[in-house]
Amino acid sequence: MFDSLTQKLSQAMKSLRGQSKLTEANLETVLREVRMALLEADVHVSVARTFLQRVKEKALGAEVMQGLNPAQAFIDIVHRELVEIMGGQAPEHPIAFAAKPPTVVMMVGLQGAGKTTSCGKLAVFLKKLGRSPLLVPADVYRPAAIEQLHAVAKDAGVPSFRTEEKNPVAICAAALAEAKLKGWDVVVLDTAGRLHLDEALMEELAQIKAATSPDEILFVADAMTGQDAVRSATAFHEKLGITGVVLTKTDGDTRGGAAFSIKQATGQPLKFVGEGEKLEDFQRFHPDRMAQRILGMGDVLSLIEHAKDKIDEKEAEVMAKRLAKNQFTLEDMRKQFQQVQKMGSMSKILGMLPGMGQIKEQLATVATDKRIKHLEAIINSMTPAERNNHNLLDGKRKRRIAAGCGRPVSEINQLIKQYVETKKMMGQMNDPKFMARMQRMAK
Ligand code: GDP
Repeated sequence: MFDSLTQKLSQAMKSLRGQSKLTEANLETVLREVRMALLEADVHVSVARTFLQRVKEKALGAEVMQGLNPAQAFIDIVHRELVEIMGGQAPEHPIAFAAKPPTVVMMVGLQGAGKTTSCGKLAVFLKKLGRSPLLVPADVYRPAAIEQLHAVAKDAGVPSFRTEEKNPVAICAAALAEAKLKGWDVVVLDTAGRLHLDEALMEELAQIKAATSPDEILFVADAMTGQDAVRSATAFHEKLGITGVVLTKTDGDTRGGAAFSIKQATGQPLKFVGEGEKLEDFQRFHPDRMAQRILGMGDVLSLIEHAKDKIDEKEAEVMAKRLAKNQFTLEDMRKQFQQVQKMGSMSKILGMLPGMGQIKEQLATVATDKRIKHLEAIINSMTPAERNNHNLLDGKRKRRIAAGCGRPVSEINQLIKQYVETKKMMGQMNDPKFMARMQRMAK
């Protein structure tokens, strides 16, 4: 999401380099380019217009921070306005939990938007907060929707509500009663969707709302449908009064314009984004972090949170100790590859690093996910003895490994070279003489 916007914006800002002041004239040029970038990212014309007006006023006004050059000052203003337009500071918590449980979260949206999947993702998110959610299938029309929700709940490791009841309003009411009885503290209602906006559906949703008094009504929107998502969000909001939006399939949408318009159109914040089909491909939406990412400043906070979730701290500690003793083996290297893969796709990680957004494409060709898989496959084809002592690897063994993992011998040689270099570097870092030399050099 926002990849091309990031690229285009950074290009636009270049025209301000070397200028000594922000003036009407140089602003005109850069704003025209920013406008193009926004429109290409599928930001609605009126949203783009308001945005540019505000940026222009601030840039020409007295709000430019002292000590910044024009390009920096402009980025600072654009950053603040991006945060504003995407919803301002995110609240401490995206779900307004009821003072008296259970909290009721009603998921609504068109068919195929990703409601059922998002119910599972939200359940995982809630579990991490120490909550115990119950998923409730209330889509009685779409074939297999109920089974799909049960399957998603199982994957997420949370219970789902089972009943003989066929009426969606009655199902939700019964689920609420069961949650109170059994102590489930968040009830997530997976309601039906249709392919198009439809009066009968809206009426049913209004009845479910009346019967369950939800604390949150989250509209699930498919980012790939762009401005259509904004239109349906508005229609759902008029009828039901949504409290927030989950934008799904942002992994398939490089534009991201919907993220700007939804807040403007409904007044309700974008709370979560879906970034893939898996349950863990789900994040809270932070306007400030997203603005930083769009401007190529990276999103280090999200990266750290992400890493904390994925990296096994104990394993990392053990690894650090082995490194300190210079016992780094090919087996350790394999574990490192696995850790990197657990963190998700390389391009996702690179996108969160400051300055990497714009050169993501080039970098991804060097450190591709596929390459890491190949390297891991090579080590997997080695015997434990070989992993612990790479000196055993003679020509015969290398040919056997190559046949086993389907990679050429040249790649095995490359891996060993990389391993030896890494080990050497680590050894030096542990050598007090080397460290003393480095310290002298740094002075
Ligand atoms: P529902 O009809 O609204 O309940 O939609 P589903 O949850 O069944 O999702 C429809 C399709 O979209 C499924 O194939 C999901 O795997 C897929 N999907 C949902 N969320 C995402 C996402 O964030 N990224 C991607 N790539 N696919 C998604």
